[in-house]
Amino acid sequence: MKKEAMFYENLKDKVHCYLCPHNCVIENGHIGKCNVRTHEDGKLYTLNYGEITSAALDPIEKKPLYYFKPESFILSVGSFGCNFVCGFCQNYRISQQIAKSEFVSKEELVKTALTTKANIGLAFTYNEPSIWYEYVYDCAKLLKETDENASVVIVTNGYISEEPLKMLLPYVDAMNIDLKSYSNSYYKDLCGGSLKPVLKTIEIAAQKCHVEITTLLVSGENDSLEEVEEIAKFLSSINKDIPLHLSRYFPQYKLMNSPTDLTFMRKAEEVAGKYLNRVILGNV
Ligand code: SF4
Repeated sequence: MKKEAMFYENLKDKVHCYLCPHNCVIENGHIGKCNVRTHEDGKLYTLNYGEITSAALDPIEKKPLYYFKPESFILSVGSFGCNFVCGFCQNYRISQQIAKSEFVSKEELVKTALTTKANIGLAFTYNEPSIWYEYVYDCAKLLKETDENASVVIVTNGYISEEPLKMLLPYVDAMNIDLKSYSNSYYKDLCGGSLKPVLKTIEIAAQKCHVEITTLLVSGENDSLEEVEEIAKFLSSINKDIPLHLSRYFPQYKLMNSPTDLTFMRKAEEVAGKYLNRVILGNV
């Protein structure tokens, strides 16, 4: 559903969207980098409000969250669009195009979450929830106002501006944030983003909710022990108990590098373990 967006301002004949650090300045009739926010006659609209492409009752460990309500299940939903263009995206069919979706109102989604047996709440995942902001915010707020014990989980690339992040966090219980690399050129060349805003998101979120981090170790791109060390050092400077998921890469979408070496994965676990109390290998 098309809905007027939050976090934009008019600039003469253009609009400036500041939901994420791309800070798109969009001409009339054009769309932002995320492919879901469009300028029409001086107003910015989001195109994916309430549009759900995927839904499942997932184990919380699948997010992955290993230290938040373990062994529980959570109703997980996603839409379409992303503000990154990662060549190794596992969900490129919904993140890099306007995929087939079904509209579900916030009331319907919250009711489903609260009446689904053995469900702890709502997880916004699969595509990038930060560019699904208006719906995520509305649903998270309604869920918490209806049942404060229900959980809200966000699985994100962390590429969101500070103001919208801070506005959403009071309704969020747990986040898994991707820290894809500790190199700005990796973010720029492989993802179409930048490192600093993601580090900022992690710092801010870790003060307000449970946070776990995922780093996909891509062979030939960021499979360096020095980089793993830098990531672990950064996280330990916030809190040594932040869980770090080091995930093994497999060829996907546009990137056909060979799967990450298993011996390297073990070494990476060892290096990160010098700084952090909780290091978990994924996809091994
Ligand atoms: S949310 Fe979309 S339109 Fe807004 S700044 Fe980010 S990429 Fe651009």
